Amino acid sequence: MKFVFLGPPGVGKGTYASRLAPKLGIAHISTGDIFREEAAEGTELGNRISAIMKRGDLVPDGIVIEAIRERVKKDDCRRGFILDGFPRTIQQAKALDRMFRIDMVLNIHMPHDILIEKISARRVCRECGDIYNVADIQRDGIDMPPMLPKVQGKCDKCGGELYQRPDDKPEVIKERLDNYNELTKPLIEYYRKKGLLHEFQARTGPEKVIPQLLELLGKYKR
Ligand SMILES: [Zn+2]
Repeated sequence: MKFVFLGPPGVGKGTYASRLAPKLGIAHISTGDIFREEAAEGTELGNRISAIMKRGDLVPDGIVIEAIRERVKKDDCRRGFILDGFPRTIQQAKALDRMFRIDMVLNIHMPHDILIEKISARRVCRECGDIYNVADIQRDGIDMPPMLPKVQGKCDKCGGELYQRPDDKPEVIKERLDNYNELTKPLIEYYRKKGLLHEFQARTGPEKVIPQLLELLGKYKR
């Protein structure tokens, strides 16, 4: 089972992937996590990545591909994986095609105004990167309950401090969403032409979305 999750920032793909992967016995591979881990371990690759990110630059395709290539060799990927945050470009998608046959690409959607409201309400753990959300959105057929930590301001997993990332502020979000749409349009077209794209509307919180996705992804079990 090899899946790619696409979707704009704030749509919840990281949350969905991290909850679905263990239920399917496959790995959740997020480029953000890989970069953080490599940097923390101080590997040669990690040092290169932290230097690039410190400059505020995008990690180049070659390095991202190398990091993914190493990651999929690990034991937890034996039965498959969900890729979250990769591929981002056609070049990355082609590199992925040379490594594996992907079963399905899930393109997760959410109305624009709901996305902006959700991203503004996102809180992230400073230590482990776990994500929470304080927004409670109930309108226009959307039922999106908040994802609150058990203790206010503290991460459930590690007790770390929760904060709002500077790029989750409303004035930055619109630009991020525009950038995302611009960047991924060719990628979505690429997978549509291959017949791999599955469109999914997220109108409810993870509690309802996860069982739906579990059924959908489970069909690819071999
Ligand atoms: Zn944490």
